[in-house]
Amino acid sequence: MAGEPQPDCLFCKIVAGEIPATVVRKTERTLAFRDIAPKAPTHVLVIPHVHYPNAAALAAAEPEIAGELLAEAGRVAEDEGLADYRLIFNTGAGAGQTVFHAHLHLLGGVSMTERMV
Ligand code: 5GP
Ligand code: ZN
Repeated sequence: MAGEPQPDCLFCKIVAGEIPATVVRKTERTLAFRDIAPKAPTHVLVIPHVHYPNAAALAAAEPEIAGELLAEAGRVAEDEGLADYRLIFNTGAGAGQTVFHAHLHLLGGVSMTERMV
């Protein structure tokens, strides 16, 4: 069935508690934890418990959960006291995606005014 845990997926293992992570928020369907190699003072990953390889696949199959990732990112930003932050979904190795379980990067705590796109 779509969305099922994948045996070789790092983020499925984090959801299952098999690999430790610094969790900042948890809901029935999402998990937010600190990135192991932060690129900003606040760098949190928000992921669905279900496994989809990228954000578009998640949104196509389970749009409510895709929306919950955005809502959770907003709550993490609030918890971290961030009014200004950046949300990123890397999709594909050529765009820098290294973990193929959909995840939303929340980056903040530093000036990020340079345009990337
Ligand atoms: P991507 O490059 O796929 O968009 O993002 C994957 C992110 O996962 C990277 O920023 C990387 O630092 C982070 N990451 C990789 N392995 C681990 C891990 O074991 N624990 C945590 N918390 N983050 C990880
Ligand atoms: Zn997974």
